[in-house]
Amino acid sequence: MTDRIFNFSAGPATLPEEVLRDAQEALWNLHGTGIGVMEHSHRGGAFTAVAQETEAACRALAGIPDDYAVLFLQGGASTQFFQLPAHWLAEDATADYLVTGSWSEKAAKEARRYGKVHEAATTRDQDFGVIPRQDQIHYSDAPTYVHLTSNNTIFGTQWVSEPEIPAEAWLACDASSDIFSRPIDLTRYGVLYAGAQKNLGPAGVTLVVVRRDLLDAPVRDLPTMLRYATHAEQGSLYNTPPSFGIYVMGRVLRWIQEQGGLAGMARANEEKAQVLYDALSELDFYACTAGEGSRSLMNITFRTPTPELDAAFVKEALAAQLSGLKGHRSVGGMRASIYNAFPKEGCEVLASFLRDFAARNG
Ligand SMILES: *Cc1c(COP(=O)(O)O)cnc(C)c1O
Repeated sequence: MTDRIFNFSAGPATLPEEVLRDAQEALWNLHGTGIGVMEHSHRGGAFTAVAQETEAACRALAGIPDDYAVLFLQGGASTQFFQLPAHWLAEDATADYLVTGSWSEKAAKEARRYGKVHEAATTRDQDFGVIPRQDQIHYSDAPTYVHLTSNNTIFGTQWVSEPEIPAEAWLACDASSDIFSRPIDLTRYGVLYAGAQKNLGPAGVTLVVVRRDLLDAPVRDLPTMLRYATHAEQGSLYNTPPSFGIYVMGRVLRWIQEQGGLAGMARANEEKAQVLYDALSELDFYACTAGEGSRSLMNITFRTPTPELDAAFVKEALAAQLSGLKGHRSVGGMRASIYNAFPKEGCEVLASFLRDFAARNG
């Protein structure tokens, strides 16, 4: 790690070193073909093998059954905010949204273009510092689906497990910032989507997992590209896919598998977050902005006593080669994003910086 520094960016974010080294090689010459991965035809055997490998790695890692399609799309999670309701939310139907931060607000806003949206729960009046309890969730009579954001990247909160939902509804989840950071039971979901750039690879590819029985039923006439079935029928190769991103995602998924799979990843992520939460709670100087029981293992949000000290913290941390710690402008303070590939060593270095800064300014 000589010429690299610790990058706490919320996304795009740190990727595993060995994946980056492999990608450098593949950019130049993919598997001895004499052609780099970005230069291969997406119809040729070399690339279709890559796409199949990435899908297989995804299915193996998360135990995704055959009755789910695994798609590699473009447009980011933000495109899923409208593609999903355009596809499934009829004009006179209702979708229930669990609004736990800015990203879920954005998702709900797009859904309102297509049908009725019921906010089944929100913690807006608590500055999105907590996740609602089950008894605070009030569903509508017959929602088509229930949408949740599993990890709130900006506020630093995370659902510990999926809430119970009405029997006839299915769960739609924006898992952009915690996908494959812990074991997941996909059968609890109708649709799960994630932009790759936090936990899975480079920006430009969006992973979408869809229960196949939902594919036949778009509730309105949609352009070919917006129909999930188009991509499912063609193995995500209907048009030119984000080929480099799909390649790197496959390597990242394999890297996660080598770390002990999702269970191993969960253990490592818990240990990493613990290093920081321990330091923060031991020092009265800092306040966590997320409530106990709701705290994210991916994005750790905290403050010093004043905005001036927050600014000094970010500046001095950068001088100490700890980058990307400024909090989102809507929350202020600091945010340490420590996704799957972020090394534990970086958390330890930040923990000692936390102690040192508090000692000098407390
Ligand atoms: C980053 C993020 C998004 C936005 O993703 P894009 O791929 O930029 O559209 C959406 N939801 C969550 C939870 C995020 O963390």
